[in-house]
Amino acid sequence: YLTHLECPRCGPRHDSDRPRNLCGCGSPLLARYDLAAVGRAVDPERLARRRADLWRYRELLPVTDPAHITTLGEGWTPMLPAPRYGARIDVPGLLIKDEGLVPTGSFKARGAAVGVSRARELGIRHVAMPTNGNAGAAWAAYAARAGIRATIAMPAAAPAITRQECRAAGAELHLVDGLINDAAAAIAELLASGDAFDVSTLKEPYRVEGKKTMGYEIVEQLGWQVPDVIVYPTGGGVGLIGIDKALSELQTLGWIGSRLPRLVAVQSSQCAPVVRAFRTSARHAEPWPDPVVSVASGITVPAAVGDELILDALYRTGGTAL
Ligand SMILES: *Cc1c(COP(=O)(O)O)cnc(C)c1O
Ligand SMILES: [Zn+2]
Repeated sequence: YLTHLECPRCGPRHDSDRPRNLCGCGSPLLARYDLAAVGRAVDPERLARRRADLWRYRELLPVTDPAHITTLGEGWTPMLPAPRYGARIDVPGLLIKDEGLVPTGSFKARGAAVGVSRARELGIRHVAMPTNGNAGAAWAAYAARAGIRATIAMPAAAPAITRQECRAAGAELHLVDGLINDAAAAIAELLASGDAFDVSTLKEPYRVEGKKTMGYEIVEQLGWQVPDVIVYPTGGGVGLIGIDKALSELQTLGWIGSRLPRLVAVQSSQCAPVVRAFRTSARHAEPWPDPVVSVASGITVPAAVGDELILDALYRTGGTAL
């Protein structure tokens, strides 16, 4: 049901049948579907009888031929009530969606499952990316599963397990002194050569399609209700942008009402470009000048390419950034 790719900043449609990176204007591209046709093909009742993984939402995902679906059983993670912690922080009804249970140990696997599946469908044989660790581990695993080559560059200070996961999956690994932007520089030549397809955060349009399934699951697991607030640990913001996109697709389908949850971006005080931009009601986030890697290494992203989309989602839903 995928119809085209759209630039959320400058508007034009792009053909989705070829590999695509950013729009010419520098914005990420978003996948668009024939939602009226999806609504005729499937409904919440039929979804409920499907397998408990993210491919239950296949009509809302970009993979056309099921033969290209590359899966390690990702998705449908539990929403765990956290009543004692909720009472302590004065949030009755607090739920935690435990994404640590997906293959490779983070929600990066959702993006990799869908991103790799679509890359394979489009005939891509070699993917490459800079990463803070988890995305590289996930894409290395799914590329191996698909029989595609992967080249991953990550900071030498990234968690050792993510390095080992890349190597175990047979990816080519570059370790870099510095941060994720330095890792990007290390493979810039390979990407420019055209020999590998750039699957950096939001530089291809399908990783966000995998991560948006968190939004569908949250709603379905609550019995097709939206929560009041969704709090998201924000690095590149793919999950936040994806959840926002999922909710608006569900609205268009008429599967949820007009009320949207407030979306909240949480960042480390040592690297908080989105929070700083939000405080001044800015449309863009300036790069964070002196980021320090905290225990939450996955969110050390000093300059996110999807900054406008993240901020727009926060403003539009009456959310905030902390
Ligand atoms: C990547 C990552 C994040 C940030 O996710 P985005 O969707 O890129 O903002 C948060 N936590 C962990 C553990 C991660 O690996
Ligand atoms: Zn554009």
